[in-house]
Amino acid sequence: MQIATTIIFFILGTVFGSFFNVVGLRVPEKSLLSEQRSYCDHCRKQLTWRELIPILSYIAQKGRCKECEARISPLYPIMELVTGLLFAFSYYRYGWSPELILGLILIALIIPVTVADLEYRKVPNQLLLFFSPIFIIYRIFYPLDPWWDSLLGAGVALVLLLLIYFLSRGGMGMGDVKYYILFGFIFGLKQFFLLFLLSNIYGVIIGLVKMRMKGTGRKTKLAFAPFIGLAALTVFYFGDAIVLWYMRLINY
Ligand SMILES: [Zn+2]
Repeated sequence: MQIATTIIFFILGTVFGSFFNVVGLRVPEKSLLSEQRSYCDHCRKQLTWRELIPILSYIAQKGRCKECEARISPLYPIMELVTGLLFAFSYYRYGWSPELILGLILIALIIPVTVADLEYRKVPNQLLLFFSPIFIIYRIFYPLDPWWDSLLGAGVALVLLLLIYFLSRGGMGMGDVKYYILFGFIFGLKQFFLLFLLSNIYGVIIGLVKMRMKGTGRKTKLAFAPFIGLAALTVFYFGDAIVLWYMRLINY
């Protein structure tokens, strides 16, 4: 039964992923509510239900709009696939539990923020404002141990990130700062430190790979929120195991 449910979560995830793409793309342009249906960004043709099937429609159309042949960004099917895998893995990892709910809310935040940052180089305030009360309510029902660890995590994140924000003189965006603080609240102090460390490791690795590929000298601003999101998911799924492993490492 578990396999069947995991597959259902995967399919549900791809459908939600397709919605999260739209949210990430339209929230920064504030056109989320003005346009009812999905359309081609190039020719504005409304998409039929066939063209809305996650991942498969992209493959069937060979990555192009049926009407105008404009290329569809591979980012969309990739994010649909990633969302499907994350939904499935959240269920697989935590089963029917409060953690599963937290996982789904985290994915609903992280995927649109990732799309928005890759596309527009910003973390939309509207998304952070929408999700903050949801996470606060979640932590009222399912507090960390001790409960004030959330406040400690958010407080330390606030001080640390504001310091980096002012020292880096625009190297880090205010959106990234707020994004980190929200995760400080969700995960508490210890896990926040792990998240902060991991996001920087991911950033450095991808930064080096990109420099290799494009050749040094060309400075393109790297979207950083995807690394914060990836680190948050790593901490959510494996944080306890990593902290435990580290504790053993320094004990012996
Ligand atoms: Zn088109």
